[in-house]
Amino acid sequence: MGVEKFQEKLIELIGPMESLGDDRTVGWNGSYFDGVHPQKQAGLNYVGLSVPVGRTNSDEFDALADLADKYGDGKIRTTISQNLILTGVPDDKLEDLLKEPVLQRLTPDPKRFMSRTVSCTGNEFCNLAIVETKERARRVAKYLDENVQLEEPVRIHFIGCPNGCGQKSVADIGLQGSLIKTPDGMIDAFDIAVGGTLGPGAKYNTALKGRVKGEEVQLVLAQLINYYKETRVSAEESFHDFVQRVGTETMQSKLTEILAAS
Ligand code: SF4
Repeated sequence: MGVEKFQEKLIELIGPMESLGDDRTVGWNGSYFDGVHPQKQAGLNYVGLSVPVGRTNSDEFDALADLADKYGDGKIRTTISQNLILTGVPDDKLEDLLKEPVLQRLTPDPKRFMSRTVSCTGNEFCNLAIVETKERARRVAKYLDENVQLEEPVRIHFIGCPNGCGQKSVADIGLQGSLIKTPDGMIDAFDIAVGGTLGPGAKYNTALKGRVKGEEVQLVLAQLINYYKETRVSAEESFHDFVQRVGTETMQSKLTEILAAS
C-alpha cells in the first residue's frame, strides 16, 4: 500500500487524528534537579538531592522514606542521573527538612564534580565488568572538586565495559573501562570520549586515542578540564560547546600531550 495510501485508508476508518499539539520541549539538563524548586501547586516545593555516584544504602532510604512522610507527600522520585527528588514539601516545612542529618550527605547543594559524576556498577557487582568503577568515580570526583575551580558543570560518566549502562555515550567526558599491559602485568585503564549530549544538538561523544591508567584518570581529567577552562571563549561556553568549537582533533592533541608528559 505504501505509507500515504495506508494513512489515507486509516483516516477513512478512524476519522481525523489528534494533532501533535504544542511543542513544550524546554531543553535538556541531564536530569539534574539539585536544590529546592517551587512546584506548579502554590506553596509546595520539590527538593532535588544529590546521591554521590548513585550509591546509597538501606539506612539512608529508611530515613528518606520517613522524611517523605513527615515533610512531603510521601513520595520519592528517582532520576536517570542517579539522584533523588522529594516532592510536595510545603514552604513552612522546608527549613526543618534541610536540617535533617541524612540531607547532609544526600545534599541538595552538592559539590560541582561530585554532583555531575555518574557511574555504572562496575566489577563489584557486575559479572560483565572489566574494571572497578563506582569507588574510582567517587575518588576522581572528590579530587576534581578539591583541585579544579569551575562553576560550569561537566558531566563525567564511567562504565566498566562496552555495554554502557552508565550512559557514557552522552557524557561531556565518558570513560570506558579496559585493561593495559605493563611490565607488572595487566592493570585497569580507561578510554576517554568527549563531546556527548542529549537534547538539541544531540550527539554521541567521540573516543580519543590513548588509554589512561586507572590511577592517572583524575590527573588527566584535571588537565583536560583546566585546558577547557583556560581556552574557552567565555565563562558561558559549556564543555560541550567548547569541544564542538575546537574539534575532536584539538582535544586529541591535548590528550596526547598530557599522556606524553605523564
Ligand atoms: S556497563 Fe558493563 S560493567 Fe557497567 S554495569 Fe553495564 S554491563 Fe556491567
